[in-house]
Amino acid sequence: MAVQRTFSIIKPDATERNLTGAINKVIEDGGLRIVAQRRIHMSRAQAERFYGVHSERPFFGELVEFMTSAPVVVQVLEGENAVSRYRDVMGATNPEEAADGTIRKLFAKSIGENSAHGSDSEENAALEISQFFSEADIVG
Ligand code: GDP
Repeated sequence: MAVQRTFSIIKPDATERNLTGAINKVIEDGGLRIVAQRRIHMSRAQAERFYGVHSERPFFGELVEFMTSAPVVVQVLEGENAVSRYRDVMGATNPEEAADGTIRKLFAKSIGENSAHGSDSEENAALEISQFFSEADIVG
C-alpha cells in the first residue's frame, strides 16, 4: 500500500488541557510520522473556510466558535494509508462510540469538543494541507 499524507488538527479542548504531547504519542505509536506541525490561533475566516462543507449543519456556529476559542496544532501526518489509518487512530466522532485506545476515547470531552480532526479522503487531505502548509514546510 502507498505512503500517503493526511491533515490533522489537535483541537482547542486538547491544547487547553496540555494534551498535545500525549496525542502526538498516540499518533506516533499508531505508525504515523508527524512531518509538519504548527501551533496557530485560527481566525473565524479560516475556521469557516475549513468547515465550509458543514455550513448548513445546525452545529456550524458552535463548531466555528469552538475552533477559534483557543490555539490549535495543525499537522501533516505521513504513513502507509495515512488517511484511513489516522481515522482509526482518532476513533469515532462521538467519543462514546470510539474504540478503546483511540484519541477520542482517551481524551475527547464530547461529540463537538472531540480533540482531533483528520481528513476523510485523500482528496480532502491535499486540500486541507494546502490551506495551512506549503510544500516547503513539510519535511518527510
Ligand atoms: P469527523 O470527520 O469525525 O470530525 O466528523 P464530521 O465531519 O461529521 O464533523 C466535523 C466536526 O464537527 C466534528 O469533529 C465535531 O467537532 C463537530 N460535530 C459533529 N457533529 C456534531 C454535533 O452533533 N454537535 C456539535 N456541537 N459538533 C459536532
